[in-house]
Amino acid sequence: MRAEEAENAEEECPQEWGHGSLKGYATVWGVGCRGMTRRMFVGALGVVPALAVPAKDAAPIRRVEVFPVNYPVTAYFKFLPKPERPAVFVKVTCEDGSFGWGQSVPLPTWSYETLESATSALRSYLGPALIGQSPADIEGAHRILNKTIAGSFSTGMPIAKAGLDLALHDLAGKLAGKSLPELWGRTPLERIPLSWTVNVKAIEEIEPLMAEGRKRGYRHFNIKVAPDPKFDLAVAKEVRRLAPDCFLWADGNGGYDTDTALTVAPKLREAGVNVLEQPVAPNNLSGLAALKKQGALPIILDEGVVSVMDLEEFHKLKLLDGVAMKPARTAGLFDARRQVAYLERHKLMFLGSGLTDPDVSLAASLLLFGAYGLKYPAALNGPQFLAGSFLKRPFQVEGGALGVPTGAGLGVEVDEGKVRNASRG
Ligand SMILES: [Mg+2]
Repeated sequence: MRAEEAENAEEECPQEWGHGSLKGYATVWGVGCRGMTRRMFVGALGVVPALAVPAKDAAPIRRVEVFPVNYPVTAYFKFLPKPERPAVFVKVTCEDGSFGWGQSVPLPTWSYETLESATSALRSYLGPALIGQSPADIEGAHRILNKTIAGSFSTGMPIAKAGLDLALHDLAGKLAGKSLPELWGRTPLERIPLSWTVNVKAIEEIEPLMAEGRKRGYRHFNIKVAPDPKFDLAVAKEVRRLAPDCFLWADGNGGYDTDTALTVAPKLREAGVNVLEQPVAPNNLSGLAALKKQGALPIILDEGVVSVMDLEEFHKLKLLDGVAMKPARTAGLFDARRQVAYLERHKLMFLGSGLTDPDVSLAASLLLFGAYGLKYPAALNGPQFLAGSFLKRPFQVEGGALGVPTGAGLGVEVDEGKVRNASRG
């Protein structure tokens, strides 16, 4: 259902729920909205948030500011070869002075976006394209962003775009005086248990690394696997031996070829692994199909699912059992919510992970996972690998979990002076 159709819908939508667990909110592709008023339905779409300032009265966007920064890296992680994690703060200010903060988290070892490319795309293309637009029309903003920097196979430069998407969501919540789950008509979880990442070069490193996680209250572990199946099996067995009851999640980051993946998947299951994420490259569709058909482990996709259309197509082609959601990868929360709704509707696994997210990007992930009742420990490893914060009240891991922000918008307060200083530095 498109926005205009939703606007014209009857006061109460007659459609049936597609899935019991969806009760209480409307999903986007016309799944169902029984018991919802037209206003609630449109608001839940995220198209026209239920603003305290009515959407039509929201002052247009006046300025988009972009601040590249780096966070210190505190431990070995293969995606962070330098001792710093790049990130780009985005501040969107409207004509009436209202503003929202977002954050892009490019990681060139993971995908093609860099600190420099995200910064220049935001400063020279994406930001200017939104000047004069309504901050309340997030769907319209994405239409403009996707015309300004077009896609290739899927959404182009999604990580850069996520910074603007997050800032618009923050603004929408602040204008309404509501947290994002409230804006979406959802009752969020209070806390999200985290999964500790085990990425080692030698088996002997596992025990002390897991002990460090346990000291911080972590009870669940994820391992990085591929391309060496012999080493991966040894890692899986050791982690399972040390944590017999944990949710053990193996992520290949596309690093196996098809034959190796098909050989190792049943062995990883025997070793006690619960799910296998992105075992082969995202464009190795025949490999994914073979692994799904083999059925040794649930196949979870990450890198390859950027937009909800990718998810629908890959599902129709029987390539997956679920998705590791991360708003940074999906150009922000707007598309991420549609993907979670699709996963729920089709009874696929909804896992939550991230891109070693700091601060604002971490807040957005927690809000998405909290609002949609994440059932698995989240592989949000920013707190494990990064130091420092640009928030006035930084996130603190307690008992291996993070609290879901409750304030208006993204529920975090950015220390603007600190961001400006670091960005100049
Ligand atoms: Mg992954």
